[in-house]
This record gives sequence, C-alpha cells and structure tokens, in this order.
Amino acid sequence: MRSSQFSKYPVLLVNRQKLYENITKVKETCGLHGISIAGVVKGFNGIVEATEQFQLAGCAQIGTSRIEHIIAARQAGIQAKYMMIRIPMLSEAASIVRWADMSLNSEPAVISKLHEECVKQGKRHGIILMADLGDLREGFWDKKALVEEALRIEHELPLLDLLGVGTNLGCYGSIVPTREKLEELCVIAKEIEDKFGRKLEIVSGGASTSYPLVLSDDMPEGINHLRIGEAITLAYDLKEFWKLDDGGLHTDCFTLEAEIIEIKDKPTHPVGKIFVDCYGATPTYEDRGIRKRALLAMGRLDYAFYDKLRPLDQGVTLVGSSSDHTIVDIQDCEQVWHVGDVMKFALTYPTLMYLSASRYVDVQICDV
Ligand SMILES: *Cc1c(COP(=O)(O)O)cnc(C)c1O
Repeated sequence: MRSSQFSKYPVLLVNRQKLYENITKVKETCGLHGISIAGVVKGFNGIVEATEQFQLAGCAQIGTSRIEHIIAARQAGIQAKYMMIRIPMLSEAASIVRWADMSLNSEPAVISKLHEECVKQGKRHGIILMADLGDLREGFWDKKALVEEALRIEHELPLLDLLGVGTNLGCYGSIVPTREKLEELCVIAKEIEDKFGRKLEIVSGGASTSYPLVLSDDMPEGINHLRIGEAITLAYDLKEFWKLDDGGLHTDCFTLEAEIIEIKDKPTHPVGKIFVDCYGATPTYEDRGIRKRALLAMGRLDYAFYDKLRPLDQGVTLVGSSSDHTIVDIQDCEQVWHVGDVMKFALTYPTLMYLSASRYVDVQICDV
C-alpha cells in the first residue's frame, strides 16, 4: 500500500465525504430496525483516512479480518471498539488481545489461548461465538457444542466476556441470508440467554448480504447487529443483484485513475498463430475489424481482474489485460483521447481489495 514516489498514477481516490454519507445512511436505516453495525474496513485494506469515517459516523465497532488494519488505525489515533472478524490464529492470540476489543470465534483451543493472554496482559476480551448455518466457512456446525462453549466461557474463563453469537452467510457457500436462516441464530441466542438468565449484547446476523432483509423489513426481531463493508463502501450489490432501492447510496466512494501510454488503431483479432496468453490461458478473440484502442499503465498486478473494473468515461470498454497493461476500446468515445490523459473507473469488491493493497497504487483522499 502507498505510492511509488516516482510515478503519479495509478491513483486510488477515496472520497471521504461520500463514504461518510454512505455509512451514516446505512447506520441510520439499520438503527430504525434496532440494529447496530460494525463497519468493516478489510475491503479497502484499512486505509486509515477511510477507516476514520466509520468512527466519525458512530459505528458501534470497526471490524476487519487482519490485525494489521486495527494496529494501523489505533496508531493513527482512531479511538473505537475494534472487532476481529476472522477467527484468530492461535499464533496471534497475544496481538488480538492487545489490539482488538473483541473477536469472532469458533475454536475452544483459541478461546482458551485468548483467555491465557488476557491473564498475562491484565485485560478483558469480548467473544462472539459463530454458528455455521450452511455457508460452510467458519462457525460451529454442532450447535450443542456452541452452547457448551458459551457456558464454558461464562463459568470458567473470567476475563472473557461472552458478548453474543453471530453467523456469516453468502461467502463460501453463496447461501442467501433468509429470514428462516437468521431465525435459527435467534433460537441459539435464546437458548444461551435462558441458560445465562440475561440478554446477549450482540446477535450478529451477517454481512452486507443480510442488509436486504433490513431494507425489505424482513429481519427477525432477535437480530440486533450486522457487520457491513461492501454495502457501504461500494454499494452496487443491492441494486444489481438484489434489485433493491438502497435509498441513493454513492457508488463512487472509491475510484481508480490510470494514465494512457499508447493510442493506436489496431486489429481486434491477434495476428499470427494463437497459442496461450501470458497466464497460460487460451482466450477467444472476437474479430471486430480495426478499432481505436488505448493502453493504460496498470494491470493485473494492481487489480487482478480487469473485467471487474467499470469505466466511468463515456464509450470506453474493457478489452483485456496483462500484469502491467490494460487495453480499452475507445472507438465509440465522443471525447478525443491523448497519450497522458487519465481515465476513471468505478470499482468492485475484488478490484478495491487488490488496488488498496498494491504498493504501486497511490492512495489519495478527497472531500468533494
Ligand atoms: C468480510 C466479512 C464481513 C463483511 O462483508 P461485506 O460483504 O464487506 O459486508 C462480515 N463478517 C465477516 C465474518 C467477514 O469475513
């Protein structure tokens, strides 16, 4: 992350103001349904100026999957509750206790280790036990074992606070968070609450993919927390995949700018004997005759998937890419492009994730 001092582009532009407005809108919409949110910052690798907006907008917690993001945010002076949303590694237990206020968990051995670290450091740590409801990534599959672990934390690990339970859907297994699925989580929460004789602080019903249930007013009563990244930072899923009105969220909180290094009229079908491309793949090429195209100084090393970029300039279409080059068709542009001009792109989940981690991409902050 952070720029090369030798070149200006590509630039990842962060619009702080628009990001703040998106966070506020999602937070308020959830608030109307009794749901607080952890703002998830892993999608942009915890760029601190962007992370800070989640604190300013008053998210209950800031969540991320990498402890490095939490350390960077704390060192930048962003005072918030930090939630580690990837199950901690046994080997990072000390850092988790030191830097995060709470973590999502599913392994008794890790939980015991976190408690040991709490004893060593004289600190407390919050635990949210994860239930796997069918997406088959993290979480207890055996729900009896989950409840037993809750009891063990409550009675045997005094420096751990069992804050609640949670689940994650729509990641590995592409399972839709339906009302029925999330009611299963509420049943688990209720069982623990009955055994403890008190309410759980957090019943965390998932990520951005659970937000449609809030918008369509179909979230079970018992769910009082979500962990939201994408629906705030990129905000295209709801409109595109769910056909839902998100109340006018910005889709350009993060944009990409890249510089043109060549403009030529060229054939659209490669000329010669076709074998494999630079990644060993055998793509097919459509012959559209001679077309005007531009070459941009950025490539898969920066964003991984060229077809997940979205050109913001009229008439520009993506043709292909290699590690350090991106080819776009500009035949249908009204604008006359020149070498040295800069093209703009909107981003998607994977492209934002890779771009914000690339050390060749300069991160710039703006407010309008
Ligand atoms: C990534 C992640 C989230 C946030 O996902 P978005 O799709 O960005 O909202 C929430 N919870 C967990 C456990 C995650 O791994």
